[in-house]
Amino acid sequence: MKRYCLQCDDSTELVHEKRDITISYNGKFEIVSNIDGWHCPICGECEFTNEADSRRHMDTLNSMIESTPRIRTKRKQIITLKEIKQQAKKN
Ligand SMILES: [Zn+2]
Repeated sequence: MKRYCLQCDDSTELVHEKRDITISYNGKFEIVSNIDGWHCPICGECEFTNEADSRRHMDTLNSMIESTPRIRTKRKQIITLKEIKQQAKKN
């Protein structure tokens, strides 16, 4: 049975083989090797055929997310006592 890529248009056939998958997250790249599944030759999308490989892929992605430092959108403003005194002098 043929399978088609859901990410590309309907005419892109997936290839069933073992392949290394490159995961990119936040500018970083990790390779998960020997993933058994249906791979798209165009966009690199993969339909996993077994639980273990799917899990390896998921774990790698999760560890990449966890190792990425959280970016704070709002910076806490810390005013030192010295600065407060300086402010007071100005006024
Ligand atoms: Zn595709």
